[in-house]
Amino acid sequence: MAICRIPPRSGVAFPLGRGLCLRIIDPDGEQVSDLLAFNAEDIGEAISSGRSLDYASKIYLTTGDAIYSNRSNVMLRILQDTVGRHDFLLTPCSKDTFRLIYGDEHPHRGCFGNLAAAIEPYGIGPDQIPTAFNVFMNVTVDAAGGLRVEAPLSKPGDSIVLQAQQDLIIALTACAALQSNNYAFKPIDYEVLGVPAAVVVAGQADDTGTLGAA
Ligand SMILES: [Zn+2]
Repeated sequence: MAICRIPPRSGVAFPLGRGLCLRIIDPDGEQVSDLLAFNAEDIGEAISSGRSLDYASKIYLTTGDAIYSNRSNVMLRILQDTVGRHDFLLTPCSKDTFRLIYGDEHPHRGCFGNLAAAIEPYGIGPDQIPTAFNVFMNVTVDAAGGLRVEAPLSKPGDSIVLQAQQDLIIALTACAALQSNNYAFKPIDYEVLGVPAAVVVAGQADDTGTLGAA
């Protein structure tokens, strides 16, 4: 499949079959992409920030970590990650975000509105939108629990690869919030692919090593 581009401040949704991989690429650097996933067979099952962070015992998920559903099933597994900093604490930016935090009088609908429009054809309503996995978003937590939205650590061409563990409906944005994207709105690229060769080879090598040690 060719690389697809999500224009700045917009979003898309598409099916992702079990076993397929989704590579999300930051073509220009410092651009966030909000990711949602729903079980294609039962849209009542969706990604869960609370369960994923609980089971991983950390807030920054990266290579090898799983994104769990509200029913504690693994929906996605992170196979590759060239950045290592993504947020799973904050909800998608929305017109309310822009009204309350930025003071906009005529706010953009934000990632929330873009996600809601993208998933509507799949019969998924806005009240079913969970906390998104905010790819490349850099939220830091200080010792007192204070949150800061910093510039993403992603450089041009950085990417993350997630493998579907169920048949999924994916929704994905090029984030629309100024602060999250270091004050410039850029596109996001993505592609759907089979398991990358490098990952398969690494897995075989690990298996061999384990057998040899035993
Ligand atoms: Zn956003």
